[in-house]
Amino acid sequence: MDLNVQLFTGGCKEPVEPDVRQILKKLRRISEKVNIKSGLIGWNIDMDISEIIKYLRDIGAEVYQWLPVFSELDGMADFAPIVGRNGIPKITYDRGNGETFNFCCPANPENVDKVINIYDKHYRNSAFDGVFIDKIRFPSFIGGQDTVFSCYCDYCKNNYDVPSPDELSVVDAINPLGISEYKNLRYLMDDFYLQLFDYNDTAVLNSIKPLCDYFRELGLKIGLDLFAPFVSNFVGQNYSRLLPLADMVKPMLYKITNAPAGLPFEIEMYSTAFDDNPENTQKRKNILKNITGFENTDFISREITGIMDVIKNQKLKIKMYAGIELNYMDVAPVTKEYIEESVKNIRNADGIVTSWDLNTTPDNHIEYLLNAWETVYE
Ligand SMILES: [Zn+2]
Repeated sequence: MDLNVQLFTGGCKEPVEPDVRQILKKLRRISEKVNIKSGLIGWNIDMDISEIIKYLRDIGAEVYQWLPVFSELDGMADFAPIVGRNGIPKITYDRGNGETFNFCCPANPENVDKVINIYDKHYRNSAFDGVFIDKIRFPSFIGGQDTVFSCYCDYCKNNYDVPSPDELSVVDAINPLGISEYKNLRYLMDDFYLQLFDYNDTAVLNSIKPLCDYFRELGLKIGLDLFAPFVSNFVGQNYSRLLPLADMVKPMLYKITNAPAGLPFEIEMYSTAFDDNPENTQKRKNILKNITGFENTDFISREITGIMDVIKNQKLKIKMYAGIELNYMDVAPVTKEYIEESVKNIRNADGIVTSWDLNTTPDNHIEYLLNAWETVYE
């Protein structure tokens, strides 16, 4: 079992102030007990974290540049926007940490070129071992139906078979996508939605492939930050198609986080996207939870087993590190019990990423993790 750490240094425009001394102390404490395999760090460019990088290097850990792709870089280039059925969607969600969750069109190759230019200009000289790419997706239901029923920009309309807005009209209010089954990490659902999500998957793959080729040419390893499988279906992330591109993948299995990529948050966004009738919202939520088995105690381990099956069936060498929240904040009420349960739940994975921010991980959470780790894995 490998242990990897993740550190958020702030968005492009709003750096956080990482407490470097405290972070080093936490890293020392972890590495006294468990080898740290890698550190995923990003993505603000103004922070001086050289001491942290040096420490990780000295203990033999790899360092990945955490880099958002189709969101969050909008201050650094003029990206072609994503277009929903009713124009450019407006995301009003604000976590107050500099992340905007505004997405550009994930299909347009000009946007990929701009990401490469940004990397080349701002990140390339940081001499990391790899790049850990995040936000490689379409937006979720965070902006209602319009952010998922996309993209209708000229590029997408001319190059992909995107179902027309009329074809995506919702006929069943409580099971709007007609989901009937969740099997092998994928939903069975109404044909037009299968067509939409297949276009999303294909567009993300077609964009990420040249991006990964570029990083490979620089001799860098590649990590992927992906939604948990059962919500990845809605955002153009197909594990079977994306995993062959990378050396490591971190599914974000944030079971208690009430913020984007957090499982309760994304279920809530799906449930409230179609109308504001509270009864319908509850029914939509129940149906999704029943079909996926979300409330079952083995839900997380089943998601993990599903990903490991993809890796086994395709004989991939990729490492699968479960992303588990360890930091504490208002949106992620992590407890001792949650950490202990998580350590047990991930036993079929290759390891863990202590997500998503070592800076805001309390010391006692690290102790809970190390104790549970020792009990279960040593
Ligand atoms: Zn587009």
